[in-house]
Amino acid sequence: MTDYKTAEINITGIVQGVGFRPFLYNLARSLNLNGYILNRGNAGVRLVLQGSSQILRKFLEDIELLKPKISYIENIEVNYLENSQEFKTLEIQESEQGRGISLTLPPDIAICNDCLKDMRNPQEKKYYNYPFIACAECGPRFTTVTELPYDRERSTMIKFPFCAQAEPESCIQEYTDFNNRRFHAQTFACSVCGPHYKLFNKQREILKYDSIEVILQETSKRINEGSIVAVKGIGGVHLVCLADNDDIILKLRKRKGERKYKPFALMVPNLKIIESILKISEKEGELLNSYRRPIVLLERRTPNDNSIISKEIAPGLNNVGIMLPYSGIHHLLFDYIGNKPLVYTSGNKSYIPMAIDNQKIFDQLQDLADVFLLHNRPIYQRADDSVLRIHDDKVKLIRRSRGYVPGYLPLPFEVDVPGAIATGPLLAATGAILRRNRIFPTQHIGNISHLEAFEFLKEALFHMKNLLQINDSEIKFVACDAHPEFITTKFARELGVLFKCDVYRIQHHFAHILSLMAENNVEKDERIIGIATDGVGYGEDGNIWGGEILLSSYNDYKRLAQLEYQPMVGGDRCTKYPARMTASIILNSLGLEESEKIFKKLKLENDLEYKNTELKTLTSQFKQVNGQYPSQNIPLTSSTGRIFDTVSYLLGASKVKTYRGEPAMRLEGMAMKGNPDNIELEIGFTKKDNIYIIKTSDLVIDLISLLGERKFKNEDIAAKFQIEFGKTFAEIAIKLARENSIDKIGLTGGVAYNYSFSKAIKENVLQSGLNLLEHNTIPPGDAGVSVGQLIGGLFKYYNQD
Ligand SMILES: [Zn+2]
Ligand SMILES: [Zn+2]
Repeated sequence: MTDYKTAEINITGIVQGVGFRPFLYNLARSLNLNGYILNRGNAGVRLVLQGSSQILRKFLEDIELLKPKISYIENIEVNYLENSQEFKTLEIQESEQGRGISLTLPPDIAICNDCLKDMRNPQEKKYYNYPFIACAECGPRFTTVTELPYDRERSTMIKFPFCAQAEPESCIQEYTDFNNRRFHAQTFACSVCGPHYKLFNKQREILKYDSIEVILQETSKRINEGSIVAVKGIGGVHLVCLADNDDIILKLRKRKGERKYKPFALMVPNLKIIESILKISEKEGELLNSYRRPIVLLERRTPNDNSIISKEIAPGLNNVGIMLPYSGIHHLLFDYIGNKPLVYTSGNKSYIPMAIDNQKIFDQLQDLADVFLLHNRPIYQRADDSVLRIHDDKVKLIRRSRGYVPGYLPLPFEVDVPGAIATGPLLAATGAILRRNRIFPTQHIGNISHLEAFEFLKEALFHMKNLLQINDSEIKFVACDAHPEFITTKFARELGVLFKCDVYRIQHHFAHILSLMAENNVEKDERIIGIATDGVGYGEDGNIWGGEILLSSYNDYKRLAQLEYQPMVGGDRCTKYPARMTASIILNSLGLEESEKIFKKLKLENDLEYKNTELKTLTSQFKQVNGQYPSQNIPLTSSTGRIFDTVSYLLGASKVKTYRGEPAMRLEGMAMKGNPDNIELEIGFTKKDNIYIIKTSDLVIDLISLLGERKFKNEDIAAKFQIEFGKTFAEIAIKLARENSIDKIGLTGGVAYNYSFSKAIKENVLQSGLNLLEHNTIPPGDAGVSVGQLIGGLFKYYNQD
């Protein structure tokens, strides 16, 4: 036995919660290797195995070949040990608390096909129609785990001890049987020992609890009768109702309060039933079916087919958010409801994070839901459904949450900083944690406009820090937005005091571009021309930025182009009322007298909250400053979002704004029905003090006269505008790239979600022979800003020493 060796093997990556440990055990066993296996938290998995070098080599090769689908191996390190004791058995040892630079925990995983089969098989007594069925390769993870290493006692499943007597095999037997799919699975349970659903009325009285069949019969009956049902799931609670009935959707909108037009997501039992009305590309189908199960925005085939999806689901938009069932309860509900789409929207009041605790669910949804289908498994971390759309082959994440968190972005260079925190922007926010050269964004938080959302941000950040096992003393800096008054900026200052470290304020659009650079592996000393087309961000000159081209390195940026500054008469009200923004631009471009004629023609006052009174105030505010703005009531903005608002308003796509991004989204919906070809519209630019300026005043005047001609359909003008606007950004970016000998142009910011606008930029850049960097893993919108804040902070931190 000269060739007999003892190998110590350390594996890092996503190697916990994906059936990796049982897989290794069975692989080692099949090769007759003895020794042990143990989980070491973020340090990964360690094995010590004895055998001939040939067999050990085979073992290592097979790991890569046969590993469980969702596992991800970052690194395998092998050391051969001298004079080791001899092992007579193969064992899984108790986990230990190891430290590493990564997170070995996967996101929540959709129910797998094997579990689905068991759930539908009447022979499988324990699991038949049991919605919490799971195995080593599927089930909740991130939302359930309280701490690492990943074991049942550090998950919310601790409440449900394994049964010892169930037929045909108890859960203890399954857990300890290496031939079983649930061998060493941590979050499974059965109908004997696991959590259960009950159906409650608003008074919190139990309506049905006897069997899941009875519960589902009653639930589906209520849904079919038009009720809105709160259904607790994996990372939170949904409001569920029929999707084909206008009245029910309108009832839901009314109950949600401030949700007049914002689209609702749907869940469908299978893609077949919507294929005739929605386009599904191969990539979209793949993502919809992936274990992450996000909501994917799918384009309508024919705009007005409302046969199975009510027109009230997404008014004015040409796409609908669709997802497939990802947990047992979803599948079972469709078994009873039938083959039709259901509204499946986050169960929360507008602006408040959804409740995850049963009593709080009752409190929050008291006036929203008619009945409550709730289970008794605690949710540890809230995670909304993720939302994305596809541009050709690239993923544009809008909300990065369930199924994606706690995934990380690797930075394309070495970093020796042990930890840092970013508090994000203010709207559509996430926070993020840096651990050496990895950035871990939190789940989606949303608008930090209410205390509840702020608390959620805090909690999510500290949980992530805890999962990553970062000590307080390892936090070397805190990064935040450049806006001095944001609650997230103030929070960053508090964290700076708490962790005794510096706080760096990073300009919003620079942060967007930094996240894009890292995602695209831009090297440490490289520079790019970054186009940031966005809503709002605090600019270094105190104005509101949002349509910028920045020459960027990781260290710094220089603003080389922008949209012409436009006044926002009455400040933030212009963001809320597209008519007001439009009036401001017209006043700025044409002066008072000419403007008033146009206001009349547009009947603009009708679209202001206080009608004629407001218009009068607006014009007098404008007159008062006599062209001297920015002033207290009239800030300046270069926001791309505000131009989309204005164009959308002028073309009648969006007269009022009821949710963030609505005018731009409706404009896109309108443009999809238009033909840009025969329209003459050029968007010009000029150069002033070495900065290119896109002339938005001229654009608005041109649009008004195009409309006056009445020669073209508004749909056609909308289509033309999006393309032409993109082209202008591209043209300037190409010029700047050439002037500065740079070959990479990047596109980021919330407006980059607009398909034909970004396609125009992409096509023009590629035609010029330059490269275009775009997002695929980090959200282009504000949900990606916290990532950029950390990168910006990191380089400030380095440059300071
Ligand atoms: Zn499974
Ligand atoms: Zn059991």
